[in-house]
Amino acid sequence: MNRLLKENGRVLAFGAHPDDLEVGAGGLLARLSAEGAEVTMAVVSIPNNTEKRKAEAHAGADIIDANLFILFEEKPLRVEDIPMHELVRRFDQIVGDTRPDLVITHSAFDLHWDHGLVNRATVSALRRTPCDLLAFLSSPEMNAQSRAIGQCFADITSTMETKIAAIKAHESQVAKLDLDSSRDLARAMGRISGYEYAEAYEALRVRV
Ligand SMILES: [Zn+2]
Repeated sequence: MNRLLKENGRVLAFGAHPDDLEVGAGGLLARLSAEGAEVTMAVVSIPNNTEKRKAEAHAGADIIDANLFILFEEKPLRVEDIPMHELVRRFDQIVGDTRPDLVITHSAFDLHWDHGLVNRATVSALRRTPCDLLAFLSSPEMNAQSRAIGQCFADITSTMETKIAAIKAHESQVAKLDLDSSRDLARAMGRISGYEYAEAYEALRVRV
């Protein structure tokens, strides 16, 4: 994975809701940030409890040491409430502003409808942008029947605890988020890939 990113590279990650990026890609984002990349987390919408979840999103991004943008933060919203052309227009803007070397987004195989929409909007927004593109499943257990993801693996041994801390920052969701299963999954992905802890990604576009 190191070879994917030049030093001082720019990373842009799209998550449908607060906590999706911490759960799906928090280890890699924290690692790239620690290695000197400029990491931006773009959270599309906040479905409920706006002020509380906005504060949690900022706390999570601070732990990962990433910039945070909440793209539609004015009122409670699901991604499916946003017209696709409006979503892509907003993604276009942030891609133009951040000029990423690497983009990380939801997988098209994610069974959560909002997550799939974010995948489609990301691919559309990158139509003229040369960059690498990886996709994650935000909750692989819930996606057990979808195609298994994992063409490439990120070593997150050095940032496993940071990832857990960033997930914990989402206090209002912690009852729903199973911290043990995040760790178990990272250990299982690590066993496949030869690291202590790993996150699995689908390589949608990789320049070597
Ligand atoms: Zn989500």
